[in-house]
Amino acid sequence: MTNKELLYKKKFIWEKLNGEERENVFKLGDDYKAFIDASKTERLSIKEIIKRAEEQGFKPLDEFNELKPGAKVYFVNKGKSAVLAVIGKDKIENGMNIVGSHVDSPRIDLKQNPLYEEHGVSLLKTHYYGGIRKYQWVALPLALYGTVVKSDGETIDISIGDDDNDPVFYITDLLPHLAKEQNDKKLSEAIEGEGLNVIIGSLPAEGKDDEKRFKLNVLKILNEKYGMIEEDFHTAEIEIVPAGRARDVGIDRGMISAYGHDDRVCAYTSLKAIFEIENNDRTAISLFADKEEIGSVGNTGMHSEFFNNFVGEMILLQGGGDFLSLKRALANSSMLSSDVAAGVDPTYSNVSEIQNAAVMGQGVAMIKYTGSKGKSGANDANAEYIGKIRKIFNENDIVWQPAELGKVDQGGGGTIAYIMANLNMDVVDLGVPVLSMHAPFELVSKTDVYMTYKAYKAFYTNFI
Ligand code: MN
Ligand code: MN
Repeated sequence: MTNKELLYKKKFIWEKLNGEERENVFKLGDDYKAFIDASKTERLSIKEIIKRAEEQGFKPLDEFNELKPGAKVYFVNKGKSAVLAVIGKDKIENGMNIVGSHVDSPRIDLKQNPLYEEHGVSLLKTHYYGGIRKYQWVALPLALYGTVVKSDGETIDISIGDDDNDPVFYITDLLPHLAKEQNDKKLSEAIEGEGLNVIIGSLPAEGKDDEKRFKLNVLKILNEKYGMIEEDFHTAEIEIVPAGRARDVGIDRGMISAYGHDDRVCAYTSLKAIFEIENNDRTAISLFADKEEIGSVGNTGMHSEFFNNFVGEMILLQGGGDFLSLKRALANSSMLSSDVAAGVDPTYSNVSEIQNAAVMGQGVAMIKYTGSKGKSGANDANAEYIGKIRKIFNENDIVWQPAELGKVDQGGGGTIAYIMANLNMDVVDLGVPVLSMHAPFELVSKTDVYMTYKAYKAFYTNFI
């Protein structure tokens, strides 16, 4: 054995790529930017995924009378989560190769009765969604997306703030001149949840004596544009997200800043990978979950039965059908929980334990366990399983790195991995390293995005 063979050494993806592959890194980056710009909410992500899937020949499950090898199937769950499948030659009961991401991202939701006026300004009350650092969400342009169900049952979609001609929305912060008290507060308390009020208007309606004429003016505009009345807010889901598109970062254009890399970058890379699967032995599944950022709850989150029900329906269409075949299909499956990893931040490297941290540009991060304080809440994948994946990756020139979320006892987190592991399938977390995770604009390296897509494809193609 040579010293080189004995020692483990991490590599930068860029240095391993030839000229053509380097071009492909940038091409994929451009397509990813188009994807994420069209995917500002969980609903829009699912729409974009299904639009692209239909272009690739995927059809809804209820259009099939039987499922033969090569069939491309999709299922959308309440517009917020979805599953794509490319049926393999082997029976589904014998197991599937699953890549599972989430399409919800941290954001600011409107309360159900949000509109009020104060000192000549109309504002919206909010309740933030997921783990945001509140001080990052003030004093920047914001966009508003929503689905409103009116009293007659009609549903309308609203999108304001991302077209160049649109107005944007805004949450104020104090001027430094008057921030003495706020400056003395802890960073986590300087901006309060009830302080995330979004400005929606500032002009009064006609009629000097109307008591709420600023609020009234907003309602008049909403009524003209969407036929809305104030009570319609009560039956709406309206989300406030950063306004603005994905942009290249750095003079070499090596990185991308965008809202919602967590976890739409893994949704995108798994989508690209499954589009290239054919003649597969095991059925390939790309899973897009909702509500991961608030604990995978609700009927569109991973704790819901929607995925199991979909697999049951597929087994029926393959001529199977008893309850045990579904249980077997799930237990025989292998999954990559495709979620982002915390990259080493060069300015805050002290929160990472560098030998076990994901370095930007050094490849897709394999996270054997997440959790916090003694692996609590972790999935902790089996060595035998990650050994098989290592073999596939090394045989297919996948640049990957083992990582964990940060120093022991520094904090922690979780993904959908442990929920799927409850079904007795093998699961490990594997995804793109990100900087400034959960900030309004997060960062990824284009080389990592490219390598993650290659890794998912190698998994779909080679895992038996
Ligand atoms: Mn995530
Ligand atoms: Mn997250």
